[in-house]
Amino acid sequence: MSATELGTTRDELTTLYSDLQAAGLKLDLTRGKPAPDQLDLSNGLLSLPGDDYRDGAGTDCRNYGGLAGLPELREIFGELIAVPASQLVAANNSSLQLMYDLTSYAILHGTPDSDGPWGQQKIKFLCPAPGYDRHFSVCEALGIEMIAVEMLPNGPDVDACAALIAADPSIKGLWAVPTYSNPTGVTFSEDVVKALVEMDAPADFRIYWDNAYAVHTLADTAPTPYPILEMAAAAGNLNRPYVFASTSKITFAGSGVSFFGSSEANVAWQQKYAAFSSIGPDKVNQLRHLKFFGDADGVRAHMARHRELLAPKFKLVSEILNNRLGSSKVASWTDPEGGYFVSLDVIDGTAARVIELAKDAGIALTAAGSTYPYKRDPYDRNIRLAPTFPGLDELGTAMDGVATCVLLAAADKLLADQKS
Ligand code: PMP
Repeated sequence: MSATELGTTRDELTTLYSDLQAAGLKLDLTRGKPAPDQLDLSNGLLSLPGDDYRDGAGTDCRNYGGLAGLPELREIFGELIAVPASQLVAANNSSLQLMYDLTSYAILHGTPDSDGPWGQQKIKFLCPAPGYDRHFSVCEALGIEMIAVEMLPNGPDVDACAALIAADPSIKGLWAVPTYSNPTGVTFSEDVVKALVEMDAPADFRIYWDNAYAVHTLADTAPTPYPILEMAAAAGNLNRPYVFASTSKITFAGSGVSFFGSSEANVAWQQKYAAFSSIGPDKVNQLRHLKFFGDADGVRAHMARHRELLAPKFKLVSEILNNRLGSSKVASWTDPEGGYFVSLDVIDGTAARVIELAKDAGIALTAAGSTYPYKRDPYDRNIRLAPTFPGLDELGTAMDGVATCVLLAAADKLLADQKS
């Protein structure tokens, strides 16, 4: 566009934006929360387990004990995330807490493969970015230095990971969301997974394999989970993966069950330290989940009901972004087959401005830079959109507003660039 054309476009967008501000919106696309109608799908849990408080083995779930969780529930989720039930722990409602705790145990005591506590060394983690902000916050809270690596369409840039690790033995961890990644929606390819378990790394290097969205498909079926523990064992790196999952986006986000799977040695190590802070998890809630689902197919059928509610929302986001931004080439975005997010890339140097414009028009977006370590997006480019919580009407209004902000910020930037 010429400077004059761009100026006219900018004026039109400014008018659109003023209308948006005048609408007095109060909309929120910040966090990936299930919507109330999704939570309703699990209301059956509220009247379970009824009077029958024993599991199949006769355990009285009301009492203390059973730190590893109910075996029958571990069977069900073990099948869904490709971890043998004997190597899977069922814990309380938050997998993030398991990640934090495991990292803390390593800092205080060292892993079974460490020379000493991580806390006595300088520790660094590789952080594929764009990635999940709360993974990065765990590192920040525990004083672990973060190194960003690029998230490619088939998973993290493994060559870059291997090169960084070869040059720096203080790198001890890597965050990974292998299925429908947060926020890019990327599902790792088999080549990437193989390379991750095979690459040279210190004995106490750990992959935090956070399979939070293993069954959260918008397509007909979810991808088959990689048997990462088996693959790592075959590569001679038995203790490398820590597998995580939870029912947070399956049943109740605040009242679900989380899972940790790993090698026998790692699970024994985790259980040893977990035993100091708990005499056992909430087994009544685990029993509730067991009775509610029955088996792995019960979970799959339940996820199909989530899909019916979520697919129209993701379709709407895609339609609005295509209609409003498709021809201008000032943005690109993902059209995920599952998970909870749409990742929007805007013209470099404008993401923070878009988020600010949206905020001033009453549309809350995830904070600028959140998808990068230290909240520093080096390109000021990525915006994570979370379309699950608002109703369809609100979502449509919010997305239309976001598109206006993207265009206005782009026009301002391009005009400024032309002038300089
Ligand atoms: N991992 C990822 C990748 C997530 O996106 C989320 C939720 N946004 C979590 C973990 C949190 O899981 P939980 O509720 O089990 O702590």
